Amino acid sequence: MLSPVTLPPSSSLDQHTQIFPTLTAAQIDRIRPCGKVRHVEAGEVLFQPGDEHVPFFVLLSGSLEIVQPSQPGQPILVTHAAGNFAGEIATMSGQRAFVLGRVATEGDFLEVRHEDFRALIGRDAELSEVFLRAFILRRLALIHSGAGNVILLGSRHSAATLKLREFVSRNGYPYVYRDLDTDTSSQELLDRFNVSADDVPVTICNGVHVLKNPSIQQLADCLGLNANVDQTAIRDLIIVGGGPSGLAAAVYAASEGLDALLLETASPGGQAGSSSKIENYLGFPTGISGQELTGRALTQAMKFGADIMVAHSAVRLHCDRRPYHIVLEDDTKLATRTIVIATGATYNKPPLPNLARFEGLGVYYGATFMESQLCDGDDVIVVGGGNSAGQAAVFLSQTARRVHMLVRSGQLADTMSRYLIRRIEENPNIELHYKTEIVALDGDTELERVTWLDKSTGKQSAHRIRYVFMMTGASPRTDWLKGCLALDAKGFVLTGRDIETTALHSGGWSLSRPPQMLETSLPGVFAVGDVRAGNIKRVASAVGEGSMAISLVHRTLGEL
Ligand SMILES: Cc1cc2nc3c(=O)[nH]c(=O)nc-3n(C[C@H](O)[C@H](O)[C@H](O)COP(=O)(O)OP(=O)(O)OC[C@H]3O[C@@H](n4cnc5c(N)ncnc54)[C@H](O)[C@@H]3O)c2cc1C
Repeated sequence: MLSPVTLPPSSSLDQHTQIFPTLTAAQIDRIRPCGKVRHVEAGEVLFQPGDEHVPFFVLLSGSLEIVQPSQPGQPILVTHAAGNFAGEIATMSGQRAFVLGRVATEGDFLEVRHEDFRALIGRDAELSEVFLRAFILRRLALIHSGAGNVILLGSRHSAATLKLREFVSRNGYPYVYRDLDTDTSSQELLDRFNVSADDVPVTICNGVHVLKNPSIQQLADCLGLNANVDQTAIRDLIIVGGGPSGLAAAVYAASEGLDALLLETASPGGQAGSSSKIENYLGFPTGISGQELTGRALTQAMKFGADIMVAHSAVRLHCDRRPYHIVLEDDTKLATRTIVIATGATYNKPPLPNLARFEGLGVYYGATFMESQLCDGDDVIVVGGGNSAGQAAVFLSQTARRVHMLVRSGQLADTMSRYLIRRIEENPNIELHYKTEIVALDGDTELERVTWLDKSTGKQSAHRIRYVFMMTGASPRTDWLKGCLALDAKGFVLTGRDIETTALHSGGWSLSRPPQMLETSLPGVFAVGDVRAGNIKRVASAVGEGSMAISLVHRTLGEL
């Protein structure tokens, strides 16, 4: 029986077969040496929400129900039969399960321990494809039907709600969202858990743990997103930053057998994750959303066995001796022989005194599907004249009534791609305002009015516009590195030949060889992507540098 998991709308019979494939006898024979046959009795619980490193089960006979115990009525999501296998993305990553597996009919199951399962997918390409496809589709079905173990109660008028929704979505975690402004039935939930509408956003994990207005760290802990990460190990490599460059480094490092951990402040994706459509990345002629691209990369990194730690930031580097220690905001110290710095850049913010008050309540720094839904049919402002502003304007023009693009200078940036310039100029929904800057934001609880200054006429005008997208470039995220390695005047990390000999020696470079390409003034520490001085600000170059860095890491590890 293969229901009632709700498949994404495009599902077909073929997709159904892919999501719950029946393994052939030959395929099962290839799995047998990795596990042991276990006789199971009806009613036996094999795994439940909260369990880590859940084994992989292939059903030789009997049947297994997958149940969501934290939802009303404890729905059975699927019943696996002989030849099927249990599992989804968490089975591969070792993260906590959020469903329960209960034997429906007694039989014999082949049980493969988590680490043996990882080894199997690393060496058997055909099985790896079958499992991965099924796991990804199952996770998508769980996301689509909200069959996870977390309920998020919030309001579209709350910036904190948007932040949490972004966090769970970008981590590919299934959740149920209840908007208190539109969903009247939510009151029953609030009453049941004894919380008031003033506490929003509220999350309920596993039907028991209630978090009022949690930070993303608290939510990550509640979901156990990092529970499988050993924080005491001395690793070959820690990659700091989960944008395209960090994800590429994680994929190559793990696939080449390094013990690698990727550390990310929020959720993987980086700046690219806030891009509605990337059209110039090789191999995607019709474009791909940043979240889809980086989501795929994350799954790939997990498949090869990279550990991922989210919702934690590197705040300091202890660089006086090796192994290096990366210090987190809660003072945890992670030890590593080498480091790839992939912390990218953060959005520049115009100097408007009350900007922070409207962040998430009318002022946004990314234009993805989620933000575009908020301003459907309204007028919006996009600030900036570079590639990211151009993309946002074109994307938002599909749903907004009118897009006002405010450009500080007299023209679009020289760096903007030709195809974007053409699309903007030819789009009747986009109005370009050159030499124009926002001078005031006004509103009560949310942004209601924007005043801008046309510098060519000196005239200020106020507009009833409730949505502003700031796309005004970025500065490097290198505060945590200060005092450890050579940075340029703007704070970008210097690498390879760009490091001057004096900086090298005053910084304590101890080796007879000079730094390799992408290596910083600290031996064994590399910088890639947008954080590196001289970077190209493109997804492709970030991915290229992240992958290249790994061959240099190997060379460095050989020196130790
Ligand atoms: C809206 C938008 C659209 C874009 N569109 C395109 C496009 O179409 N084509 C293109 O080629 N390029 C595009 N770009 C540029 C491209 O996204 C970037 O060049 C690319 O993302 C850089 O990747 P990165 O991994 O070096 O850094 P980032 O993407 O900036 O990622 C850095 C990551 O590090 C994390 N981090 C930072 N500090 C810490 C810390 N202390 N500890 C832990 N983690 C940390 C951040 O949270 C972030 O996830 C776009 C950029 C934006 C903003």
